[in-house]
Amino acid sequence: MSISVPDTLNSSVFTRREFVRQCGGTLVAFALPSSSLLKAANNMVKQEKFDVIIIGGSYSGLAAGMALGRSLRQVLILDSGKPCNRQTPHSHNFLTQDGKTPAEISLLARQQVEAYSTVRQHNALVTHAEQLANEFVVHTSAGEKYRGKKLILATGIKDILPAIEGFSECWGISVLHCPYCHGYEIRHQNTGVMGNGDKGFEFLSLITNWTNKLTLFTHGNSTLTVEQQHGLSRKNIDIIQTEMDRLEHKNGHLQRVHFKDGTSMAFQALYAPRPFEQHSGLASELGCEFTDEGYIKTDSMQRTTMKGIYACGDNVTRNRTVANAVAMGTTAGMMLNKEMIFEEF
Ligand SMILES: Cc1cc2nc3c(=O)[nH]c(=O)nc-3n(C[C@H](O)[C@H](O)[C@H](O)COP(=O)(O)OP(=O)(O)OC[C@H]3O[C@@H](n4cnc5c(N)ncnc54)[C@H](O)[C@@H]3O)c2cc1C
Repeated sequence: MSISVPDTLNSSVFTRREFVRQCGGTLVAFALPSSSLLKAANNMVKQEKFDVIIIGGSYSGLAAGMALGRSLRQVLILDSGKPCNRQTPHSHNFLTQDGKTPAEISLLARQQVEAYSTVRQHNALVTHAEQLANEFVVHTSAGEKYRGKKLILATGIKDILPAIEGFSECWGISVLHCPYCHGYEIRHQNTGVMGNGDKGFEFLSLITNWTNKLTLFTHGNSTLTVEQQHGLSRKNIDIIQTEMDRLEHKNGHLQRVHFKDGTSMAFQALYAPRPFEQHSGLASELGCEFTDEGYIKTDSMQRTTMKGIYACGDNVTRNRTVANAVAMGTTAGMMLNKEMIFEEF
């Protein structure tokens, strides 16, 4: 029986259950006690490497893993367990999973991927990755080291939240970034929009589709043009320039916005598009190019500018939805498999 075992095999990576499954099932489990199993595992270390290592095991990484696992590739998915939507109570606009919690969607995804014996999933933070002549070597914060022929970066992005008290507690619950994800649930409510200048004006105009009870918070001096200000006043939309001080909330549900001048206003929701940074510095470390907006540059097949490295999900696009992350992950998996088939043929 040929068993593919990576060179870092240890109990934290391959659980007893996983090892038993690799060895062909319950017969081995009954025949060997735990310590013998691990000893046997260590003896079987073969310095083999994975076909593909996927860094980031949320929606995009798992979708890539499924496409590759179904293509009979030996895949390792490493994930640090911090998807960007983890605080949001319900995820919307992803067909078949509408209204589920983000955790429910990921759990189902992980279970479905786990069904493929070709794919291993492991909780780990990748701290460093290097490209050698014919392989990638990936290091984790726990000191583990993995080797792979190819790499997929599905590491997502991080929103940069302002230092306003209560903001981070409300993020994803009543302080929101996207009307397509949450606009329906807060339709017709008394809603604030944080923004300024052309971008703020454009974003606020978008939100008028879901509610006409709107106020624009410029959080400092307005940079709107006179024409834009007239446009807002024609629609009875106030512009508040006073800086926000804190958000009063109950378990993340916004009640009032308090301003630095001591005044306050009642609101049920606040839209706040935020700047972002890459969740991981790995793409930069590996030499991948970025777009002017800060996304990893990819082509339509999800190939980055570095050979053998693909990227998918939020880290490559402003089209930020679970559906799109999944679609891009599937594309990355399929296209990378195709590349490997032609290289091997
Ligand atoms: C508050 C909020 C609410 C949202 N609501 C919705 C919604 O209702 N509907 C919708 O369609 N979309 C929603 N989105 C967008 C959606 O969550 C994202 O588009 C989606 O999560 C992107 O998936 P991803 O796999 O690219 O990245 P993520 O889901 O962010 O996952 C990236 C993963 O990579 C891991 N990772 C990063 N670096 C490393 C590393 N060095 N080593 C190991 N692992 C690493 C992280 O821990 C994380 O698990 C929301 C986003 C936010 C912020």
